[in-house]
Amino acid sequence: MTTNEPSFRESVDLMFNRAAALLDLPPGLEEKIRVCNSTYTVRFGVKLRGRIHTFTGYRSVHSEHMEPVKGGIRYALGVNQDEVEALAALMTYKCALVEAPFGGSKGGLCIDPREYDADEIEKITRRFAYELIKRDLIDPAQNVPAPDMGTGEKEMAVMADQYARMNTTDINARACVTGKPPHAGGIQGRVEATGRGVQYALQEFFRHPEDIAKAGMSGSLDGKRVIVQGLGNVGYHAAKFLTEEDGCIVTHVIERDGAVVAENGIDVDGLRNWIAEHGGVKGYPYGTYVEDGSVCLEADCDILIPAALEGVINLGNAANVKAPLIIEAANGPVTAGANDILMEKGTVIIPDLYANAGGVTVSYFEWVKNLSHIRFGRMQRRQEEARHQLIVDELERISKDSSINWTLSPNFKTKYLRGAGELELVRSGLDDTMREAYAAMRAVWHGRDDVRDLRTAGFLVSIDRVASSYQAKGI
Ligand code: NAD
Repeated sequence: MTTNEPSFRESVDLMFNRAAALLDLPPGLEEKIRVCNSTYTVRFGVKLRGRIHTFTGYRSVHSEHMEPVKGGIRYALGVNQDEVEALAALMTYKCALVEAPFGGSKGGLCIDPREYDADEIEKITRRFAYELIKRDLIDPAQNVPAPDMGTGEKEMAVMADQYARMNTTDINARACVTGKPPHAGGIQGRVEATGRGVQYALQEFFRHPEDIAKAGMSGSLDGKRVIVQGLGNVGYHAAKFLTEEDGCIVTHVIERDGAVVAENGIDVDGLRNWIAEHGGVKGYPYGTYVEDGSVCLEADCDILIPAALEGVINLGNAANVKAPLIIEAANGPVTAGANDILMEKGTVIIPDLYANAGGVTVSYFEWVKNLSHIRFGRMQRRQEEARHQLIVDELERISKDSSINWTLSPNFKTKYLRGAGELELVRSGLDDTMREAYAAMRAVWHGRDDVRDLRTAGFLVSIDRVASSYQAKGI
């Protein structure tokens, strides 16, 4: 990034300010919503490899207009207070936009998780969780973390276990964190959720010819050429679903150590396995390796999916970015300055607060499942199947009795007779959420002359909802 670029938090604030200026909020409320309520910094020691290592971690609470507050915990060397506060603010707006009943929070630990083995990560995670739990910064009713960059199911399971050890009589202990593995209180479909949400967001965008035209594009997702930055949890799932189910072609994957280019399409699973085995994309035999991967952000494509980290599209490269459509799978990948340049060029940006909200949406479902202590679909699935069977039997009886002589196709029967299990219900709930949130943003985008982009529209919807919540209950 260039030096005259605002910080990540300033960038989020600038985008917030732009939208808030279009709302008629009571005096002072705008500032109350914008500021981060609190940030806790902790330094703790863990004995590893014969000596004590000191780690620094953060947990920010941006807004408590609804509780618990919610947001992931990131493990990365670059974690700092500014970043965690920016991410916490985005969580507030994201939750409001997708109507997940949470305030915004975020956490981080300054660590490169690749430098530690699984046992060491567990030890560090347990100690970090202990520090947060004793200050109610992990708590089913107050603050519920989730995975983010560098963390996943394993870390969440350890945090949940640490909470249970420290709160042995809390019957809702499992709801203290989401993103746990299914066998440890998690929910089907959480690992894929953010990438799945990116897919649903794009599917919804491509249902609206007017919106497609705003990006200077036409047609459907089928055959669209895609660049993905970051083949981690979010980027991998988004790329996999878009190629396998929507006919997209991933031509470039940009990773830490460079990029792979294959104009005929990259086998997403093949590359993911290669990275897992070799630690990077270099040497992958079915594509051309580009050492300076970031130049590929500027390559020709239809859709650019930054799914790694913030600030990657900035004042330094925005003018060269050719993608007519950018979907922010990562948080904050486009800086405020770059956003202006891209808007002038007519690039359509599907903003982070919407695009990657699939994770928190399914986290919300997991939290509800943990509080209700029952898996979704358990009560009604077989009953639903029995009722469908009744209809099929009756139709087949009528056909036989009246000798109309038609039959239901076996494929239809198999699909129709199967009651929805947890995964189907989660996907359905996520799809509905992404469509509803898009409709809310779109109504503002198309309905107001002073709103030119989806980001401002998304912020407007969110700020309005947060403001209404404060106004309803008082500060
Ligand atoms: P992850 O750690 O699983 O994956 C990140 C990927 O990006 C890795 O493959 C990593 O090698 C790659 N990467 C790191 N630095 C890079 C660089 N400089 N250039 C190119 N690639 C680089 O993380 P994730 O969970 O997929 O999160 C990615 C982004 O999505 C973050 O911005 C995160 O805040 C956001 N997000 C994640 C979730 C979630 O549920 N995991 C939810 C919402 C938003």
